[in-house]
Amino acid sequence: MRFCEWRGLSVRKTTKDWNRGVKLDTNNVELITKLVIEALNKQEAEKNEKGYLVPVGVSNRHVHLTQEHVETLFGEGYHLTKKKDLMGGQFASNELVTIVGLKLRAIENVRILGPCRSKSQVEISATDARTLGIKAPVRESGNVAGSAPIALVGPKGVLYLNEGCIVAQRHIHMSPADAAASGCKDGDIVSVVADNERGTVFNHVKIRVHESFTLEMHIDTDEANASRIAQGDTVRIMK
Ligand SMILES: [Zn+2]
Repeated sequence: MRFCEWRGLSVRKTTKDWNRGVKLDTNNVELITKLVIEALNKQEAEKNEKGYLVPVGVSNRHVHLTQEHVETLFGEGYHLTKKKDLMGGQFASNELVTIVGLKLRAIENVRILGPCRSKSQVEISATDARTLGIKAPVRESGNVAGSAPIALVGPKGVLYLNEGCIVAQRHIHMSPADAAASGCKDGDIVSVVADNERGTVFNHVKIRVHESFTLEMHIDTDEANASRIAQGDTVRIMK
């Protein structure tokens, strides 16, 4: 578990200093012994902590498009090409667009996720919303009614969406087996804690259960940076 790694740092650092040639006097031995015991106690405490562990996936800004809108931006008959498989049959495509806010501020190289959907949607961070000069609401993916307008620019055309730009609500994907094991069900709202040096608690985390999902909490780059969580770190569901 990566979130445990930093907890061992103080011990490793001390051992390194020790190896660097500090005198082998009694005080140093006592200090190292104390640090090692503290580290072991911490490990024990972690084992006894309650809560279901969930790995974190950090979502960068991205776009979902209808097939019609893919063709508007990339040309008639164009289809998205797969770069990397994601969970639930989704994929990161090779195709990128520029997104433009009403104040004509733009962000380039925003990736499109496939396959195509029945509605186009742009998911950005709150920082991106400031950069673009737009007011994007926090929403669950797919719930775009009344959300912010945005323009997209592709190599073959331009698309204006009256609504569709959101900041994604943080959520946890899980299989029915994970749901049973964690005591959660689809649609639940839970709190999650990150046991790292920032010690952040996230409230209002939506549980999404589907057979195609693998266990993962999705947060955006703002949330990850503010809480010092990286892709693959682990958080705990608090019950
Ligand atoms: Zn997700």
